[in-house]
Amino acid sequence: HADTAMYEVKNNGKNGYQFFSHEMHKSLMNRLQLEAELREAISLGDQLQLHYQPQVSSLSGKVVGYEALLRWNHPTKGMLSPFDFIAIAESSGLIIPIGEWALIEACKKAKKIHAADSHFTRMAVNLSALQFNHANIVDHVNNALLLTSLPAHLLELEITESAIISNVDDAIALLFKLKELGVLLAIDDFGTGYSSLNYLKNFPIDTLKIDKSFVDGIVNNQKDAAIARTIVQLALNLGLGTIAEGVEHEEQYELLKAMGCNDLQGYLYGKPLALE
Ligand code: C2E
Ligand code: MG
Ligand code: MG
Ligand code: MG
Repeated sequence: HADTAMYEVKNNGKNGYQFFSHEMHKSLMNRLQLEAELREAISLGDQLQLHYQPQVSSLSGKVVGYEALLRWNHPTKGMLSPFDFIAIAESSGLIIPIGEWALIEACKKAKKIHAADSHFTRMAVNLSALQFNHANIVDHVNNALLLTSLPAHLLELEITESAIISNVDDAIALLFKLKELGVLLAIDDFGTGYSSLNYLKNFPIDTLKIDKSFVDGIVNNQKDAAIARTIVQLALNLGLGTIAEGVEHEEQYELLKAMGCNDLQGYLYGKPLALE
């Protein structure tokens, strides 16, 4: 067919033939190019950046922490969000060196903020599932703390339910090792993954991060409101903290505060920005 190119591919160790459309070929080439560019960005060092989004206490209204969020200032495409490149960073394994760098960079900034701001209680850093499951994550976290001499209790690691669920026994052991370093542990996007009440019982978690999808609907959708309220109650009963992500409107803040949610993060308070 005129629209189809044929490429030889290795199939189960044997040489076989498979048809790819030009669209598939183009998308593969784009991925490979982006991966090569990402590799270069890591070695050049200045294209990858962390932006920081404030986390506000619902009681005091003060900024009590920040979440570090990765950005790639791509030479031709401009500022890219993780959604544009995190899949490639994961599949190529490049998320490991990127994540190692991000930990150190975020700890450096946390150390500075801590020295200047008495209300500062935490710097949250995202860990990918691959980082959590395959890298020497305990060493990486420990190294970042030692290198920057940041007190461990000022670092919070955000982990998703999907990172934990792939190997629950290893995950428990790993979480306890991280906890031994003295860092805080948060479950990111809570309620969207394979939420299990069992792991809340067994895992040394400090914070549940209520996913933006529930916050989005909290004003107009009774089910979203009920879920958000239930997460806050669950956290209170287990002695965990709560933070809501994606708070954009005053009404969302009012409801979350009334529910007893501790902290709030979202465009209502500030978009992620370079620390300066
Ligand atoms: P996340 O950890 O759930 O981060 C929240 C995302 O929601 C961020 O997107 C943030 O910019 C965005 N956000 C915050 N408040 C609002 C709001 O009020 N409205 C809207 N519409 N969006 C809001 P971002 O920075 O694009 O990051 C996307 C995801 O990429 C993150 O989701 C996180 O899973 C991942 N990520 C970011 N930085 C890193 C990193 O350093 N390492 C790893 N492994 N993953 C990262
Ligand atoms: Mg996060
Ligand atoms: Mg999140
Ligand atoms: Mg999210």
